[in-house]
Amino acid sequence: MASLGGAKNSTWHFALGSTLSQIKTRPHLLAAAAQLHHAVESSEGLEAKWRSYQELADVYKDLGEYQDAIAAASKALEIIPAYNFYNKLLAQLIQNTNLQLGERQEAFENSFQAWESAPRDPIAAFNMIFAAHRTGRYSETVRIMKSALESKEEARFLGGVIRVMTPQRYTTEYMSIACAKLGELDTARDAFIAVRSQAAELDDLGKMAEAEAALARLYHSFYQDDSAAIELFENIVKGYSATVSAFSASHVLASVYFTNAKESSNPVETQTWVSKLEKLVDLVESMSGDPGMFPTKDEASALLGKWYAQHGQMDQARAKIQPMIKRAILELTDRDESNDYEAYNNLARGLLCSGDRISAAIAFAFTKPLQKSKELPGHESCQPIGHESTSETAHEISDDQAFNFIGRCDGGCARPEQLFKSFSICEVCVDVAFCDECYRKLMDGTTEFRMCDPRHPHLELYPPKGLVTREAGGYMIHLDGKKVDFDEWLGMINRQWL
Ligand SMILES: [Zn+2]
Ligand SMILES: [Zn+2]
Repeated sequence: MASLGGAKNSTWHFALGSTLSQIKTRPHLLAAAAQLHHAVESSEGLEAKWRSYQELADVYKDLGEYQDAIAAASKALEIIPAYNFYNKLLAQLIQNTNLQLGERQEAFENSFQAWESAPRDPIAAFNMIFAAHRTGRYSETVRIMKSALESKEEARFLGGVIRVMTPQRYTTEYMSIACAKLGELDTARDAFIAVRSQAAELDDLGKMAEAEAALARLYHSFYQDDSAAIELFENIVKGYSATVSAFSASHVLASVYFTNAKESSNPVETQTWVSKLEKLVDLVESMSGDPGMFPTKDEASALLGKWYAQHGQMDQARAKIQPMIKRAILELTDRDESNDYEAYNNLARGLLCSGDRISAAIAFAFTKPLQKSKELPGHESCQPIGHESTSETAHEISDDQAFNFIGRCDGGCARPEQLFKSFSICEVCVDVAFCDECYRKLMDGTTEFRMCDPRHPHLELYPPKGLVTREAGGYMIHLDGKKVDFDEWLGMINRQWL
C-alpha cells in the first residue's frame, strides 16, 4: 500500500501547513507552524523557502506570537528582498506588529526605509505616514504634502496615497493632523485642492470625491469653518450620487443638521435644520448603493429617526430606523459570518438611535471579540483596497479577556490601544469613538482639532459592563437579572422590529 510517509517533501509540508492554517483554532495553527518549519528545512529553492516563511508569519500573527511573526516575516524579506505586493504586506505586518509591541521607533524606521526604497508606491507612503503619526514625526508627512504642490505628477501620487486604504478619512486625517501640528494647515488645504484639480483633469471622479471630502473635513475639523464645510459636504452628496463619498458626507451633514436643530433655541431655526435633515434623507434614500458599501444610506435616515423618537413621533421614528436594524438582523442570521462584525455594529447604532441604550450596548459588546479576531495587530482597521482580512479567531478567549479592547480612537491621539482605560462612542456622529484621554479633552474643549461635539451624548463601550458574558454554552446575555442566550435575545429584537 502506498504510504503517505516516505517522501514527504517541502511541497507536501507546505500544502499541509497551509491547509491547517485555514482552520483558525490554536491547535490547528500550532500544527500548521510545525509543518511550515518542516517545509522551510526541507526546501531547496529560495522561492519555496520565502513562501513558507511568508505563510509562517501569518500563522504566528494569527496565534498572537508577535515576535515570531516578525522573525518569520524578516526571514522572508531577507531571502527575496524584491518589493512585490506580498513583500509589501510582510513589511506592513512587521511594522504593525512592532507598533503593537510598543516598538514605535523601530516601526517608523522600517516603514521609512521601505518607502525610501519604493518612493512611488502608495502603500509604502501610507505605511510611512501612519508610522509617522504614531511616532510624532510629522515633518515627513508634510514633506509629501508639499511635493504635491510642485507638480501634477506629485499631486496625482498624493491622490493615490489618499485612495489606497479604506476608510480614506483616516489617511487624510493623519495628513491634516501633521500639517496642523507644524502650523501649516494651508499646506493641507492646497495639497487637497491640487489633488482635486489633477483628478478633474483626468476625469477621475472617485479621486475628486475623496479630495473634496478631505477638504470638507479639513474645513469642518481644523479650520472650524462650518459654512464652508457644509457647502462642501452638500456638494459631495449631490455631485457624487450613490458613492461611499456621498454616503459618508451625508452622515457628517446629518449630524451637523441634527446638532444645530437640537441646540437652537429659536423654533423657526430648529425647523429649518430639521427640514434640511429631512430633505437630505429624502435625497439619500433615493440613491441606490452597492450592497456591502460602508457607510450606507441608512445612517442618515436612522439619525432622522432619532430626532423623531426624541420628539415622541414614534411611528416616523420606527420607519426611519427600521431599515438599518432589518439589514443587520438579516446579516446576522445568514450563513455568511464575514459580515457579522459590521452587522453587530449597525444593529447597535440603529438601536441607539431608537433610544434603546441597553440593547445597543449588548450588540456593541459582540463587536469586541469579533474585532479582536479580525484585525491585524495595531492596524486601526485600515485595509488595502480589495484585500479584506477574513481571518477568524485563533485566540483561546477566556471569560475575562473576551472583550479585550482593540479599536481606533477618533481623537487623533497616537496612544497604543492597550493603554485605553475606556472607550466611548458618539450617539450622533456615525462611527466616531474616543479613548479616555481624548474623551476628557473633548469635554474640556482642549482637543487639537474638532471631532464630534461635547454636547453629543456618548455611550461607554469599554470596559465591559457584564451585559454579555462568555460561558461554557456560548455567549449569555444578562437582562434584568435573567440570562438568555444569543438566539433568544436576537429573537426578541427581531419580534420588536420586524
Ligand atoms: Zn485618543
Ligand atoms: Zn458626536
